[in-house]
Amino acid sequence: LNRRLAEFGTTIFAEMSALAVSTGSINLGQGFPDTDGPEEIREAAVRALRDGRGNQYPPGPGIPELRTAIAAHQQRRYGLVYDPDSEVLVTAGATEAIAASLLALVEPGDEVVALEPYYDSYAASIAMAGGRRVPVTLRPHEGSFRLDLDELRAAVTDRTRLLLVNTPHNPTGTVLTRAELTAIAELAVERDLLVVTDEVYEHLVFDDAGHLPLAAFPGMRERTVSIGSAGKTFSFTGWKVGWVTGSPDLVRAVRAVKQFLTYVSSGPFQYAVAEALALPDAYFEEFRRSMRERRDILAEGLTAAGFEVFRPAGTYFITTDIRPLGEKDGFAFCRALPERAGVVAIPNAVFYDDREAGAPFVRFAFCKREEVLREAAERLRGM
Ligand code: PMP
Ligand code: GLN
Repeated sequence: LNRRLAEFGTTIFAEMSALAVSTGSINLGQGFPDTDGPEEIREAAVRALRDGRGNQYPPGPGIPELRTAIAAHQQRRYGLVYDPDSEVLVTAGATEAIAASLLALVEPGDEVVALEPYYDSYAASIAMAGGRRVPVTLRPHEGSFRLDLDELRAAVTDRTRLLLVNTPHNPTGTVLTRAELTAIAELAVERDLLVVTDEVYEHLVFDDAGHLPLAAFPGMRERTVSIGSAGKTFSFTGWKVGWVTGSPDLVRAVRAVKQFLTYVSSGPFQYAVAEALALPDAYFEEFRRSMRERRDILAEGLTAAGFEVFRPAGTYFITTDIRPLGEKDGFAFCRALPERAGVVAIPNAVFYDDREAGAPFVRFAFCKREEVLREAAERLRGM
């Protein structure tokens, strides 16, 4: 592995999912649902496959039906108007969208300010682009992890090119408030920064106010690349359909990179996701309601087992503090947990540059059937 990537070995998700399989544990580590997305959308994929739609290379930017559906979704949900031809790009999941955006927009040596803890592919993608990551740490405050706006401002220097934002936030479950997003937007405008915002959990915000897309804030539309994913919104993580929306210049740049990473991907699935994005509001409401119920089941179970629980406002993850259990090293705790309790979780330290700061935190995914969550909680209580 070259020097840029030497610090990145196997991702924690692969390591922990393998551990779940080899020990027969309940896997609350890697975030994937144990129930597939809607039957009618799976049928739509089968129809596309049978009818010979998407079995050969689809168009580079994505099929027109899907780009139109993405634009319609952004308009219907957020009042954001994007031209499907010049302002929308289909990617191989959000993962490629993140990598292609950073490779397209960051010059070697540029600083990229990212919230810490950060989703692990951010650090690797910044490194691939030759950028320098500058973490701004979210810290526990009255039951959730919050952004210190002064720290954020102080992190921006003359070498900062880009802010990499994630809301709802993996792994903390924090949803940035309107005031926090306003401050981020003001800073981006004042310092003339580009913004890449990972909003793959946009449909998993549990209070009724719903998701606030950063691109909708004043001055942001022209400087923001927004990222979404059918894996998260429709529970098809294996299909690898993601997307980017943004101004024509930014989307053209991301597309220039994407064509040499994968060129195209997910042919027949693109047709199915186009149909999924047009599902009635009832689908999205039910998805959110059922995930909120599961959040509550797992949050109560973890509390009863002695964890300090940071009840998430969004995503399908719960971050906990293990210190009330007399533990302080999340890595050691997660490596021992399959033997102790038959449950797999993720040590948040892998999402930190400052591993010490992340050490006592452990993440559990709740995108699982209720009986699975109850069984996991039972096992944890008994350990
Ligand atoms: N961003 C975040 C914050 C995520 O949690 C994930 C998936 N775990 C991704 C991006 C990747 O999404 P995809 O599976 O669409 O590549
Ligand atoms: N995004 C998922 C998580 O945070 C995992 C995705 C992956 O395995 N790369 O758990």
